[in-house]
Amino acid sequence: MIASDPRDGIDRLGDMIAESSAIVPFTGAGISTETGIPDFRSPGGLWTRHRPIPFDEFVASQDARDEAWRRRFAMDETFTAAEPGRGHRALASLYRAGKIPAIITQNIDNLHQVSGFLPDDVVELHGNTTYARCVGCDEVYDLVWVRSRIDTTGHAPDCVACGEPVKTATISFGQAMPEAEMRRAADLAQSCDLFLAIGSSLVVWPAAGFPQLAKSSGARLVIINNEPTDQDDLADLVIRHDIGETLSPFIGN
Ligand code: NAD
Repeated sequence: MIASDPRDGIDRLGDMIAESSAIVPFTGAGISTETGIPDFRSPGGLWTRHRPIPFDEFVASQDARDEAWRRRFAMDETFTAAEPGRGHRALASLYRAGKIPAIITQNIDNLHQVSGFLPDDVVELHGNTTYARCVGCDEVYDLVWVRSRIDTTGHAPDCVACGEPVKTATISFGQAMPEAEMRRAADLAQSCDLFLAIGSSLVVWPAAGFPQLAKSSGARLVIINNEPTDQDDLADLVIRHDIGETLSPFIGN
């Protein structure tokens, strides 16, 4: 049900958190907008500015790779300057308090790790844009190396080890989902007693299947998003309000 007033919603969320022992947050781009990183689908979001480059096109075309890296480095200051927001900090507090075993995120910005989650406890469904990986052999590269190759050659680099293209360590449209992360997210969704979907339009599949899976496995489902989602009818509580304001009461030590 939709909270009629955000304050009621926050109170009910506080009760649910107190009653739960295994809370699994599932975050989307909306938790990071207050840090300065735009989301995809809001007005002015990344989606409205650029057509995403699908994986096949990235692999097939040097021009597409050059453009993908140009866009990534155009965003570099934004990603580098971003600090965890109130939502990140509240979830990190609940994690430190032992309420959250691990977090599932669609985000690629590394901010849950920066806020205090151990990297092993962040299940990244769509990868991470703060480093790069070869699409052929998985060799990891840092972005400083990528930038210096582009500065030297004028083009996006290929892997030194195998010659295949190097891409941000993210999952592009048309690219296979990471199997281990999908399995771990499913296990978490099936074993939690409270599932918090935070800042996601819940339209990117298969990631958007996890709130339903948690609910059908017996967890209570809370959706925090300032816009309606297709899964609001499923939820035990919907808080249609700013994420930072909603979660700041849960920031602890
Ligand atoms: P989305 O852009 O589709 O949805 C974000 C939702 O958050 C929107 O419904 C928006 O109304 C809401 N929102 C934005 N700011 C909010 C706020 N302060 N309070 C409450 N609600 C707020 O994002 P998505 O569902 O995560 O899907 C987009 C995909 O794009 C993700 O899978 C991710 O891989 C990628 N992405 C990641 C980042 C990031 O890492 N920060 C940013 C943009 C896109």
